[in-house]
Amino acid sequence: MAKILDGKRIAEEIKVELKLEISELKEKGIVPGLAVILVGEGVASQIYVRNKERVCEEVGIFSEVHRLAEDVEEQEILDLIAQLNADDRIHGILMQLPLPPHIDPQKILSAISPKKDVDCFHPENVGRMFLGEPRFLPCTPLGIVEILKRYGIGISGKKVIIVGRSNIVGKPLAMMMLQKNATVTMAHSKTENLKEEALRAEILIVAAGHAGLISADMIKQGAVVVDVGINRGSDGKLSGDVDFPDVSRIAGAITPVPGGVGPMTIMSLMMNTVKSAKGINNI
Ligand code: NAP
Repeated sequence: MAKILDGKRIAEEIKVELKLEISELKEKGIVPGLAVILVGEGVASQIYVRNKERVCEEVGIFSEVHRLAEDVEEQEILDLIAQLNADDRIHGILMQLPLPPHIDPQKILSAISPKKDVDCFHPENVGRMFLGEPRFLPCTPLGIVEILKRYGIGISGKKVIIVGRSNIVGKPLAMMMLQKNATVTMAHSKTENLKEEALRAEILIVAAGHAGLISADMIKQGAVVVDVGINRGSDGKLSGDVDFPDVSRIAGAITPVPGGVGPMTIMSLMMNTVKSAKGINNI
């Protein structure tokens, strides 16, 4: 049976470390601050934002949530971002996605000061990451790299297959894995033989948003499987993209859903906010 890569436990470990770091910062008069902008009433977004607020409170990060109406004008968001960019209490600004269709997400994300862009979506920060000189690293990929590191799973020289090529997960993760000397293959919905590709993976990372996409016959014996997917079934239960019960009989290690990558993503946001408060991002 595969070893369970317990994201919840590692996130708790990081929480303890961050609390200590934050209390040391507070002794120097610095309170890390995170501003979250939430547009509309989307249920999932509301839950994500509440979780972020809760974890901020637990670790000692000051947080404020700006809730804007679904029909808000683009300019109003841009004005709020300008105000937060200039606010010394705020070290990180997070725009909760998705935005309503009348708002151009790229315009909004590009308005956030790159030095407060703790989600790492600003083109300057994406470019820096691409060049191997990151200011911040994007939260979900950072959480994945961190969980592998803390379980002592080496990346250098490994065959890494990533399923999914979104700007949030797949693409930045591929870049980060490449910088860690993995041999990276990216698969997506147009990939012709996903099974053949997946079977070559020593580390298989799946971020497609497609429940049950990866079955046991697609796994190389002993492979490390990271399941990023979050899918809600008709019974309301969450599941990943990987058939967990069968795959865990073949894989060497596997992240569960829930309790795998999800908790790590939130901790990455906290780590980036603390990094920003420390001024490590002032490059
Ligand atoms: P996305 O923007 O919808 O991208 C999905 C990617 O998967 C696309 O590149 C798509 O290919 C590919 N894909 C879809 N169906 C496929 C199939 N049958 N075979 C191969 N590739 C396929 O999604 P995302 O934002 O990256 O998120 C992916 C999943 O991760 C979602 O379930 C999301 O909820 C979850 N997620 C979890 C966390 C976390 O913290 N745990 C964070 C972010 C996202 P094309 O490019 O060809 O369309």
